[in-house]
Amino acid sequence: RELSKDEVRKMVKDENIRFLRVMFTDMLGTIKSVDLPVSQLDKLMDNKIMFDGSSIDGFVRIEESDMYLYPDMSTWLVFPWGAEHGKVARVICSVQTVDGEPFAGDPRNNLKRVLKDMQKMGFKDFNIGPEPEFFLFKTDEQGNPTQTVNDQENYFDMEPADRGEDCRRDIVLALEKMGFDVEAAHHEVAPGQHEVDFKYSDALEAADNIQTFKLIVKTIAKKYGLHATFMPKPLSGINGSGMHLNMSLFTQNGDNAFFDPEDERQLSQTAYHFLGGLMKHARAYTAVCNPIVNSYKRLVPGFEAPVYVAWSTSNRSPLIRIPSDRGMGTRVELRSADPSANPYLAIAAVLEAGLDGLRNELPAIHEVDENIYQMTSKERVEKDVRNLPDTLHNALKSLAKDEVVKGSMGDHIYHSFMEAKTREYDAYRQHVSDWERQRYMEKY
Ligand code: GLU
Ligand code: MG
Ligand code: MG
Repeated sequence: RELSKDEVRKMVKDENIRFLRVMFTDMLGTIKSVDLPVSQLDKLMDNKIMFDGSSIDGFVRIEESDMYLYPDMSTWLVFPWGAEHGKVARVICSVQTVDGEPFAGDPRNNLKRVLKDMQKMGFKDFNIGPEPEFFLFKTDEQGNPTQTVNDQENYFDMEPADRGEDCRRDIVLALEKMGFDVEAAHHEVAPGQHEVDFKYSDALEAADNIQTFKLIVKTIAKKYGLHATFMPKPLSGINGSGMHLNMSLFTQNGDNAFFDPEDERQLSQTAYHFLGGLMKHARAYTAVCNPIVNSYKRLVPGFEAPVYVAWSTSNRSPLIRIPSDRGMGTRVELRSADPSANPYLAIAAVLEAGLDGLRNELPAIHEVDENIYQMTSKERVEKDVRNLPDTLHNALKSLAKDEVVKGSMGDHIYHSFMEAKTREYDAYRQHVSDWERQRYMEKY
């Protein structure tokens, strides 16, 4: 709910809030923030906070660098720490131009734009239930992350063996204090790996939540002398970290548009077409949902991450799984996305892909119920199972050819994204690694 200015002023006084953390997200998914002393509250609420957009990745050139931050007061939250120096409240902002227009390079504004298109098609909400995974690493005396994970436990392991337990519990408490509805928190398959699932919400709030979540996880981990990372594949040979996205469209009446009790799978035509769109555009939105060089080290066989473009109601190996819940819980789960993705861009991309399926009544092809990893490559060809891109480079090539997913970003973001990501891949390509020296130095 949007708080009135007076309500905010009163809360600031009552709760002894001393600082305002004013947040937005750049193109690469990094949270940017300006800290304001509370004396600037009125200026903030009057949309008068200015900043230099040219220093933000993917924003603007020097010549047009003045930007304004318009707070979205419905995102007002008080951080559950730092009471000694007065509390800190945060608010997420929309980036606006000097003319008071929403700036097209702001990923959050961009998601709002795509959501408006969805509303024009008769839907009320695009609900997202994210499942972010992360690792806890030990730190050295300087506080820098080491490559030693914090425990040697396994899926669903419990205390006293699980030393990450206390930290994770503290994370859950902090999230709850900030209004998150945490549904589950557990140790994941890899040592040092954890997952916290929170209740689904509408796309914009879900993306805001993902950003806030990362901030909280990192902050609490630090208190325990640990480093939390959302890097998709920090260690080779063990599972990486995904951020599965559970998604569903809700109608104006608040019904789940993916549910149809009459259908053999109890899925609606809307669900099938949406799936069709997700299948068709999978390679292109992979560039957005898996945007860093390291993302592609996770999307390999053998570590519970998807490799093939297929969907299934029974099997966890494909790109998309339809969990067994029906009724209001009917949803599709995209298993490729990872937590390095900018959540605003990733959600906009998958939504636009799904909406394209609806607009063009695309069929939900590529259903596979066998374990695709067990198939021979000949069987996969026969069943027309395609691969996800295997490098950032190949993902970007698919993105460049896909007008729908490009459209989900808008011109401004698309061009800056392509430029930045091409540079990132080039830098990687030029780096000679230990793996190469070990393999080739003596042999050649
Ligand atoms: N960590 C796995 C991945 O990389 C996912 C495990 C799970 O099914 O939750 O996607
Ligand atoms: Mg998981
Ligand atoms: Mg999952």
